Amino acid sequence: MTDYPLTFKCNNNCITCISKTSEISKISDPRIQDIKNAIEKINPRTDYLGLGGGEPTLRKEFFEILKYARKTNPNIYIFLTTNGRIFSYKEFAKKLSKLSLKNFRVGVALYGHNEKIHERITRCRGSFGQTVKGIKNLIEFGFHVEIRVIISRLNYKSLPHIAKFAAEKFPGMERFVFVNMKYTGNALKNRKKVLVKISKVVPLTERAVKILKENNVNTKLYHFPLCILPENLRNMAKGVTKEAGELTFVKVCEKCRLREDCPRIWKSYVKLVGDKEFGFVG
Ligand code: SF4
Repeated sequence: MTDYPLTFKCNNNCITCISKTSEISKISDPRIQDIKNAIEKINPRTDYLGLGGGEPTLRKEFFEILKYARKTNPNIYIFLTTNGRIFSYKEFAKKLSKLSLKNFRVGVALYGHNEKIHERITRCRGSFGQTVKGIKNLIEFGFHVEIRVIISRLNYKSLPHIAKFAAEKFPGMERFVFVNMKYTGNALKNRKKVLVKISKVVPLTERAVKILKENNVNTKLYHFPLCILPENLRNMAKGVTKEAGELTFVKVCEKCRLREDCPRIWKSYVKLVGDKEFGFVG
């Protein structure tokens, strides 16, 4: 896996960002040549290219980098992580579609089903409207769009509403993903406001998944330890981080029969909440 931040700047300032935005926004953007060198080193048979940030679409050489990546690796899978705001400008979405990238997916973070909830998290006025419009434009131009809800105390009670909203507004989305976040950066700094126990999140997630299933939406659960999920949701669970060192098993995992398939638990979560929620499944 090769994940590359194109810039550390962002037009949101999410209270749950896994980076400390006040610090990373001061870091200079990686040099274009370093990005190209990293792209050249990718093994197309075993690797993929993840483009993130900050907000990668703010990088002025955004299109140049994508073109270079595709030219260097014609078949490699490219995943772009974005807040989607820039795609509210139709011309930007259109320009991207003209690259005819193929084997390319866009992951867009959506935090709420209305302005109030979404912008309480992004801390940017107007971001909800732009993200919603951006997702619609991306779908209209034929992109594979993965909508990601990063779960926190500020939005977990709204998960069924968010699912209903997305199913109605974005019928062409490729999939919908619930993400249990790690507590680093802003998320750690703001833990008193954003931390929520996974066991509290699960019943709301279950209701939200039911709504998505009724609407035939492909749904995934990222970073949910298996023992905390009802059996019918376990096949949707997946771990996606490349930072395996940030995940852990706890004492009860030693004899767990689900251990092999379990995405494990964020270390940063165990540090704040402990391991009492997790249980041996014999
Ligand atoms: S007990 Fe541990 S290994 Fe088993 S499902 Fe829970 S977190 Fe995963």
